[in-house]
Amino acid sequence: MASSNNRRKLAQTELEPHLKEEEIRNILHAADSLVSLGGRTMLAKILKGSRDKKLLELGLDNNVAYGYYRSLTIEQITERVDWMIKNDFLELEYRGDMPILYFTDKGWTIQRDQAAGLLLQQWKRWVQEGIAEADMSYLKDRNRGMILIFLQKIAATCDDRFIPLLERWELIDYQKVKKAIRQVVMHLKNKETSPLLLEDAPQADVSTELLLQPRSSERIKCWECGDRFDWTVEEQDIFRMRGWEPPKRCASCREERRKLRDSDW
Ligand SMILES: [Zn+2]
Repeated sequence: MASSNNRRKLAQTELEPHLKEEEIRNILHAADSLVSLGGRTMLAKILKGSRDKKLLELGLDNNVAYGYYRSLTIEQITERVDWMIKNDFLELEYRGDMPILYFTDKGWTIQRDQAAGLLLQQWKRWVQEGIAEADMSYLKDRNRGMILIFLQKIAATCDDRFIPLLERWELIDYQKVKKAIRQVVMHLKNKETSPLLLEDAPQADVSTELLLQPRSSERIKCWECGDRFDWTVEEQDIFRMRGWEPPKRCASCREERRKLRDSDW
């Protein structure tokens, strides 16, 4: 049955232009330097390539996506940042009146893999340039899941020129990471070709689907009455831009509660 619901969804996706995969990836890169430090404006400034004093103090001009949207205005960039929030890649949390940006699970799944990819690119350059004396302390205290994905990516190269770098790193990191590094070293020494799956490593497969999902209303089960209700795209926009959790109750149960609260005095 061709429901009117489907037609409505289609109309919504037509109205709202989808960002290209490359744009989504660059905004996530920019957000990685910023997360929990700032909000939408600072993120837009990184993407603009702004010479803002605070931005430079924080070293945010070192981000790979710095200046990615150089030709757009701050307003145009902020619209795209808001699109990322509405589409559940980034989320706002209010610290008092200050909205701070964080990754959502979906956003972090993609960024974690991209960040590991950047580390690997740098290591490839070091190997080509014959650099083996690099200071590895920059890898300590990074997100553990991201580090494990990085190690799996190194293993997947089957390139034993990474071993001296791995052995330097092994000297300075924690026990759990040391163990994982050792496994990668053995994998490379033994010239194993099957993929190495490290213990506790998160799922590293980031499908394009995750990036290009069109938006639609979500079905939510009401906590109160157990009925399912639609959380529409328009409502999602409002909730996400205000940093609210998804609704827990259907409209009629919400109405009931409101009445109860009003009479309860
Ligand atoms: Zn209900």
